[in-house]
Amino acid sequence: MSQQTQQPTLDEIVSLCKRRGFVYPTSAIYGGLANSYDYGPLGSQLLKNIKDAWWKTFINRRTDMVGLDSQILLHPETWVASGHVGSFSDPLVDDLVSKKRYRADHLIETWIKKQQEKGNTQFDSFVVEDLSIEQMAEFITEHNILSPDGNPISEPKAFNLLFETAIGTVAGDKAKVYLRGETAQGIFSNFKQILDSSRVQLPFGVGQMGKSFRNEITTGQFVFRTFEFEQAEIEYFFNPNQTKWEDLMDSWKQAMHQFITQTLGIQEKNLKWRRHSDSERSFYSKDTYDLDYNFSFGWKELWGIAYRTDYDLKQHIKHSGEKLEYRDPHTNEVFVPHVIEPALGIARAFLMVLTDAYWNDTERNRVVLKLKPSLAPYKVAVFPLLKNKPELVEKAQSVFSLVSEKFETLWDDRGNIGKRYLYQDEIGTPFCITVDFESLENNTVTLRSRDTAEQVRIPISELESHITSMLV
Ligand code: ATP
Repeated sequence: MSQQTQQPTLDEIVSLCKRRGFVYPTSAIYGGLANSYDYGPLGSQLLKNIKDAWWKTFINRRTDMVGLDSQILLHPETWVASGHVGSFSDPLVDDLVSKKRYRADHLIETWIKKQQEKGNTQFDSFVVEDLSIEQMAEFITEHNILSPDGNPISEPKAFNLLFETAIGTVAGDKAKVYLRGETAQGIFSNFKQILDSSRVQLPFGVGQMGKSFRNEITTGQFVFRTFEFEQAEIEYFFNPNQTKWEDLMDSWKQAMHQFITQTLGIQEKNLKWRRHSDSERSFYSKDTYDLDYNFSFGWKELWGIAYRTDYDLKQHIKHSGEKLEYRDPHTNEVFVPHVIEPALGIARAFLMVLTDAYWNDTERNRVVLKLKPSLAPYKVAVFPLLKNKPELVEKAQSVFSLVSEKFETLWDDRGNIGKRYLYQDEIGTPFCITVDFESLENNTVTLRSRDTAEQVRIPISELESHITSMLV
């Protein structure tokens, strides 16, 4: 079976998503809303399967982790303490003619890419993330970088990414709150309550998954960068005098890589680690890596991991006056724990899973989503060979009842068998069961595998064990 060697184009992915109901543009009937997407019947199930896999791997199957579900609206002081109100910003420029806004770093990246396409190797090891806002301004002037429409642009200015809103019951300035810019701060503000109410002991981690919001300028990269998105973040607390942060960082990096390759089934060749340089890294972080994936539009961040020291807890101590400390039950040492933070974007994981699974099978003239079976929205599809033969339909319905007790199963009696197979291949269903005339005689059915398109004939009584053994 041939493996897709080239990444699909973003257009191919977007078109499959729309055609088959994975992702739709939000508010399409009103002409859409910028950078916003809805997950359709298949997309919502795939998204859920990815989220469930993360929760199971990192919360349920570890003895050193607990879960949390904090609010989107937190006390506004949270975001002052975390530094988001002061410095959570992107460098933006305005097209002086069209008034459209762009990210200065993205314009510089695009300009460099064009230079490289022309054979200019001068910028090959240039890291745009290392530039300060002043350096970006200089770079833009020096190279006369224009907007995508070819117009002059303004100097880059820092633009805060937090969305503001107001609570209705309080008047004036006190009503101002923010939609959370990350899920992590809810973990820090609950640190003491988790410590007091559960049986955790250092080192331990708290994970949570949920919506975050950033007022980002995006450049047509589908669900990769949106205003509203889901994160799965972990704060792993430890005592730096007892645990070497370098070892912890290594073991978390391994756990992340293993989740992506083994649990989500992503090809290793499409992943690479990128370490942040001193100038790119946040000032409070001692070490940061991004796990980058080879998206259709280039290598981009999927999952970040940072050693944030005791910065966040200390900031919240300063702003809240609460003692967010830990007393070691053995040594009685009282201290503020340090953290390592692995932070994953769920929509990016979703886009990665689709990109990696997309297979243009030219030999059989079909598009296949070679999803890891455990992630597929449906595991099995059941068909009666002919829709107008009641005895076949009745038998197929009994097979559907049997199989759907164990697996997410889809019923399809539209069109001919060939068309049904093509549809199931495109949505990534690993197995198709067809009930035919022979089924009526000897209680056997055909079971077709998505990737090989091969069919075997097996007794209905063996379907469950057969499918279970192949669902990994
Ligand atoms: P980027 O550099 O791409 O803006 P980031 O470094 O600001 O990302 P983090 O603050 O580390 O991102 O957030 C953790 C994860 O959340 C990222 O690795 C990414 O997968 C995801 N993420 C961040 N911003 C967005 C967004 N606007 N849309 C979708 N996912 C996002």
